[in-house]
Amino acid sequence: MLKINDLHVHVDGTEILKGLDLEVKAGEVHAIMGLNGAGKSTLANTIAGRDDYEVSAGSIEFEGQDLLELEPHERVGEGIFLGFQYPVEIPGVSNLNFMRTALNSVRKYNGEDDMSAAEFMKLIRAKASELGMDAEMLKRFVNVGFSGGEKKRNEMVQMAVLNPKLAVLDETDSGLDIDALRIVSEGINAQRRDDTAILLITHYQRLLNYVQPDVVHVMIDGKIVKSGGKELAAELEEKGYADVA
Ligand code: ADP
Ligand code: MG
Repeated sequence: MLKINDLHVHVDGTEILKGLDLEVKAGEVHAIMGLNGAGKSTLANTIAGRDDYEVSAGSIEFEGQDLLELEPHERVGEGIFLGFQYPVEIPGVSNLNFMRTALNSVRKYNGEDDMSAAEFMKLIRAKASELGMDAEMLKRFVNVGFSGGEKKRNEMVQMAVLNPKLAVLDETDSGLDIDALRIVSEGINAQRRDDTAILLITHYQRLLNYVQPDVVHVMIDGKIVKSGGKELAAELEEKGYADVA
């Protein structure tokens, strides 16, 4: 599904990703672990197509097509979702309107009609409820006045509504208390299917107790330096990055 080859990315003239390789197949959950500053968010943002992230070499293929040729909204249309490490507040735009517009844009991209208002309300109420979000929060402005954990939960509601093929979740676990972590993990597990893939970016092992990854990668200084099974996450927690990599 996702094939990244020798990816080099510059931000503000500094090389952050320095030759990263990664292959994720449909049906798989991969965890990318690394200390602050390793370049994890740079990878996530580059996959999503955020500007200011300049790809100076290498390639990203998504389902066989050149992802780097596509605009961010086209990437979403193709089925990519990015759950932000730091979700943005959007005053003046209600959560409901935001999600409905996003969903209908994706449907339009794929040649489908808009979802009716009634059908959409049914969908979003169900997803919010599954993820433990109060229905009242859907009416509020996107993330405005939300706690850190509520913002992360809101990202998961967006993911559930958009139902992406590839979800890139950038430290979705940070800022969640243990109950919220369990609920969010259930949301991630519900998104886990034979035809979807998930890239979990985290620097804590605790999320991986709830969402068991097929592959764990260790990222240091802009590269993946080691990959293994889920036992690698436990080893990292125990011994630290310096000893494992
Ligand atoms: P991680 O998510 O693993 O903590 P990041 O990808 O956020 O790492 O950052 C990797 C490095 O790139 C850091 O040294 C950070 O300061 C730098 N960096 C990231 N984004 C920017 C930016 N927009 N401008 C300048 N430097 C950046
Ligand atoms: Mg980050």
